[in-house]
Amino acid sequence: TDPARSPLLQALNPEQLAAVTLPAAHALILAGAGSGKTRVLTTRIAWLLSTGQVTAGGIMAVTFTNKAAKEMLTRLQAMLPLNVRGMWIGTFHGLCHRLLRAHWKLAALPQTFQILDTQDQLSAIKRLVKQQGLDEEQFKPKELQWFIAHCKEEGLRPHQIPIHDEDHRRKVEMYQLYEAQCQREGVVDFGELMLRSFELLRDQPALREHYQQRFRHILIDEFQDTNRLQYAWLKQLAGHEEQGRFVPGSNAVLAVGDDDQSIYAFRGARVGNMADFVREFGVRHQIKLEQNYRSHGHILDAANHLIDHNRSRLGKQLRTDQGAGEPLRVYEAPTDFAEAQWIVDEIRHLVKNDGLPRQEVAILYRSNAQSRVLESALFNAGVPYRVYGGLRFFERAEIKHALAYLRLLDNPHDDTSFLRVANFPPRGIGARTLEQLQDRARSRGCSLHDAVEHLGGAAATKLRAFVAKIDVMREATAGATLRQIIDIMLQHSGLLAHYRDDRDGADRVENLEELVNAAESFVMQEGFGRDAVALPLDETASTLAVAGQSPVSQGLDPTAALLDLPLSDAVAAETGETVSPLVAFLTHAALESGDNQAQAGQDAVQLMTVHAAKGLEFDAVFIAGLEEGLFPHENSLSNMDGLEEERRLMYVAITRARKRLYLTHAQTRMLHGQTRYHLRSRFFDELPEHCLKWLTPPSAGWGAGERGSPWGAAPSRVGMQPAWGRSGLAETGFTVPASARQTASPAQAAAPHGIRAGMQVFHPKFGEGKVLTVEGQGDDARAQVSFMRHGSKWLALSVAKLTPI
Ligand code: ATP
Ligand code: MG
Repeated sequence: TDPARSPLLQALNPEQLAAVTLPAAHALILAGAGSGKTRVLTTRIAWLLSTGQVTAGGIMAVTFTNKAAKEMLTRLQAMLPLNVRGMWIGTFHGLCHRLLRAHWKLAALPQTFQILDTQDQLSAIKRLVKQQGLDEEQFKPKELQWFIAHCKEEGLRPHQIPIHDEDHRRKVEMYQLYEAQCQREGVVDFGELMLRSFELLRDQPALREHYQQRFRHILIDEFQDTNRLQYAWLKQLAGHEEQGRFVPGSNAVLAVGDDDQSIYAFRGARVGNMADFVREFGVRHQIKLEQNYRSHGHILDAANHLIDHNRSRLGKQLRTDQGAGEPLRVYEAPTDFAEAQWIVDEIRHLVKNDGLPRQEVAILYRSNAQSRVLESALFNAGVPYRVYGGLRFFERAEIKHALAYLRLLDNPHDDTSFLRVANFPPRGIGARTLEQLQDRARSRGCSLHDAVEHLGGAAATKLRAFVAKIDVMREATAGATLRQIIDIMLQHSGLLAHYRDDRDGADRVENLEELVNAAESFVMQEGFGRDAVALPLDETASTLAVAGQSPVSQGLDPTAALLDLPLSDAVAAETGETVSPLVAFLTHAALESGDNQAQAGQDAVQLMTVHAAKGLEFDAVFIAGLEEGLFPHENSLSNMDGLEEERRLMYVAITRARKRLYLTHAQTRMLHGQTRYHLRSRFFDELPEHCLKWLTPPSAGWGAGERGSPWGAAPSRVGMQPAWGRSGLAETGFTVPASARQTASPAQAAAPHGIRAGMQVFHPKFGEGKVLTVEGQGDDARAQVSFMRHGSKWLALSVAKLTPI
């Protein structure tokens, strides 16, 4: 039969068909989002198999995530009556692991080698530092961990590293000692999986040839995000070196990618691998796909327009036949809380009126910590949701640790919490010691806390120190506000310091800070006014008990707020006891971490970071928190490369949407435990006006010339609405939630000292600049200002002489 008429190929356009049916040679597909790259890759595998050009064992396909690998297998299975289980389809790490398991002896590993995760790796390094009698202050284990991982990503063993100075020499020495220790203990970290299997192929010609013969077709998706070592690994499987030059082999490598979607530079990804691939493999088949099948016209226009602002691009265009479709809806909320409310209302509308399945709706955000407010709004509205590629807020390890400490403050006899954090952050209390303690507690019929004093020996000393720590914390937090309690706990427990030191801990630190926000808004919502919380506990309790009978307040005035006590009051009614804010908060956390996460298979809204959304698509997408400092992220604002990577991230976010796209931002947001005033993201000004529909009046943006009130800005915007909650909104068919209406006022955006985000200001030393962010209050107020000549700086408003101009 004519393979070109196979039903597999019928839906393809000519370029896609050409790519799927390419002769067995090296090829690159470079194409924009939604153009069918992944579909081509999968269909090509099916076509190669169904036409008998290769057997299932002759294919290796590399995907970026395990989820993508699973999806590819499912799709293949749907196309072919085939047992795909034994196929080599997976992530780089997954495939390397497989290789090492199969050839452990040649790789000089014990048969039972174990994998070290990041946490285990750190403990191993700490042990080593101690054993060497080194000072942890000088040789920070986290830094060493980062150094070692980085060397491995670059494919470097200790002896290959040129030494700069004495400090560097010690680091390299530690790397060497660490290697020896891992080898002795038979363990392999993530970086080692990749490097060791690379060396295995490089140093074992017979094995290399075996796999080169075997994998006739190697296909790699998301090639733009491969790092140096991964590319070198690929070259081992598809060629050899001759007099220092790479000679490609006879197998066929198909690389598929989009330079505009390269978003992992921070982990060593190298877009340059694409150009190297074309050159070194002598690629003759380069295919462009320009037809986008995913998104409606306005969405695609917006994506094209945005990414055009990047300078370093290979350059390509996308078109669609699907018609313009709906405009992108832009919504500005007064607070992050109101933003989440609005999104949830809108989702309910989409599901009810437009009949969208919930799983076709995604909420994307730049930072993990943003999920909490969104989760809370979904939870309160009873909308099932699933946090994808990460845990839900109250289930994240660092949050559970923090909650365990809080529980111990409330009740030192909570044994589960005791066990959870007795040795976290690590303080040298071993599993055996804890077992002994549990035995002792069992035989005496007391709690672990109380059993400590009955335990003898050296092991007990550390446990006593832990118990003392908890007791000291409890005293320090007596009579404190919920916020103070959490602050003290985060400091004294060592949790915050522990994650601050962690190379990969930034997200976790953000989450811990977000816990403070959770507590703040809980206090507001539940009506524990600040004054009330500061009272001694029993007095508070009696005030609360009386207040519980009063009418519901608006939850803003601290005194009036006392009158509204939904959760605590309910608990009190049931148990006949009154509860402290801490207990009420812990109950709330336990409830939110319960099983409200959608069950497997249940139709649920999808929440994830933009990074985790790569390759996926949804009918409706919300991109939340589009503010300067958040997205683009503040860490990236100081340099061009960072900003371009943020823009690619925004491009990835936009192109996830098929039919509807919502862009939202908030004037104020609780961030790192403080209220911050943000400008809306500069990305709004990089989108074509005709694609946007402003559901709220555009306020002060990044663009120049917007100096006045945030409401007076940019009169040229089309679709501008006169004010909150007016007919303009009704016309769109959406309503403003009550919560947003109540708090929506331009005064919200005004900060102390008269300095406000968006203002042009003058500083005697730095000259003219623009205020990006204002945060904190009174003497603590500070502003981030972008100066024309001096870049962006944080200034304390009580000291810095800033004049509005
Ligand atoms: P990304 O860059 O986001 O990974 P991609 O280029 O890999 O995108 P795919 O996910 O393969 O794109 O395809 C996008 C969508 O378009 C999918 O729903 C796919 O099924 C559909 N599609 C691709 N090609 C065609 C076609 N010829 N006809 C109809 N639909 C198509
Ligand atoms: Mg794809």
